[in-house]
Amino acid sequence: MNEALYKCVDDRTDELVALTVDLIRFPTVNPPGDAYTPCAEFIAGLLARRGFETKLIRGEGAPGDSETYPRTNVVARREGRGPGPTVHFNSHIDVVEAGEGWTLDPFAGVVRDGRVYGRGACDMKGGMAASIIAADAFLAVYPDFAGAIEISGTVDEESGGFGGVAHLAGMGLFSKPRVDHVIIPEPLNKDRICLGHRGVWWAEIETKGRIAHGSMPFLGDSAIRHMGAVLHAFEEELFPALDRKQTSMPVVPEGARRSTMNINSVHGGQTEDFFPGLPSPNVADACRMVIDRRFLIEEDISEVKGEVRSILERLKRERPRFDYAMRDLMEVLPLMTQEDAPVPRAVAEGIRNVFGKEPEYVISPGTYDQKHIARLGHLHDCVAYGPGILDLAHQPDEWVGIDDMVESAKVMATGLDVLLRGSTGP
Ligand SMILES: [Zn+2]
Repeated sequence: MNEALYKCVDDRTDELVALTVDLIRFPTVNPPGDAYTPCAEFIAGLLARRGFETKLIRGEGAPGDSETYPRTNVVARREGRGPGPTVHFNSHIDVVEAGEGWTLDPFAGVVRDGRVYGRGACDMKGGMAASIIAADAFLAVYPDFAGAIEISGTVDEESGGFGGVAHLAGMGLFSKPRVDHVIIPEPLNKDRICLGHRGVWWAEIETKGRIAHGSMPFLGDSAIRHMGAVLHAFEEELFPALDRKQTSMPVVPEGARRSTMNINSVHGGQTEDFFPGLPSPNVADACRMVIDRRFLIEEDISEVKGEVRSILERLKRERPRFDYAMRDLMEVLPLMTQEDAPVPRAVAEGIRNVFGKEPEYVISPGTYDQKHIARLGHLHDCVAYGPGILDLAHQPDEWVGIDDMVESAKVMATGLDVLLRGSTGP
């Protein structure tokens, strides 16, 4: 137990709350990607005052990037007194829209009853503030540490992270030898360590038909009815098969501890965009469906795609005039950092010290920016760990507990202590 370090965190409680409030007051709503630049500049300023070298990096040309909505990221680095490993804290600064149902101003940063309220309080401005305070406390106690600490505030996590972590990882900013260890303070609950996520495959399936007058459908061929056959086959064969595929990955919530697929959209026939409210007089010559398949570390992506393709191929053999096209939209492989890698071990040490119990290791049902760090940065010593209750993310009246932020800042400070000073054991 590192009392000096923990006292330094406790002493900064007011600062931690004020910082969270300040961050919430930037309405960094994505889409469209509002207030990114002032928020990134604010973070750069406060880290520069703490001795960090800071850089603003725009995700130029990324989806959504424009002069009105530049994708501005901030990356800050504080060198130690000698060579050693680098620990990087990465937080996304974007938040989802406030939506309906709030009982208070989502961008005021209201502090009440030991909580900070606001859009992004939990996901994940509270986590970012906690990581900054953790680094600050560590620097106060160990000004002579060897290695480096980095803190980044990145954009667009909520929309795939292409202008944010993916852009920076493409520049080599999440690779060795520059960075060795990454902690992403996403709200996974203060006593849990998130080791990774399930895989994702998004695809578009199109069925083809032939246009004809709606009064004589027998002269055409309905792409929508063909898609109906696809849906029927999915219901009869695919969904039951997916339900049977269980994983050894500790995914939370437990319902996601198996393969799943969502049908994101089905669009058939003439679009109503051109003629709002006017029904099409035609037989549909095309129908498109987008599927979102989440898969497990035990599954191979070629098998995942093959399951869907074999159903479509069978329909092609058996159903008159059935034809289709299938196109990949996105794929991300499942990720699971080993529990005995340096970062999970260091964070686990912090959880043991602060809470007096073993951490719970979890896997996220959906992806987050760790995917880019693994895929583009080829860095695998990474976890998500931060304060905030996962279920509150994206909800009205989102909040983060002040005690939770203080405790998780202590866990993160312990992480620095273990990774940069090799300290172990209470
Ligand atoms: Zn998040």
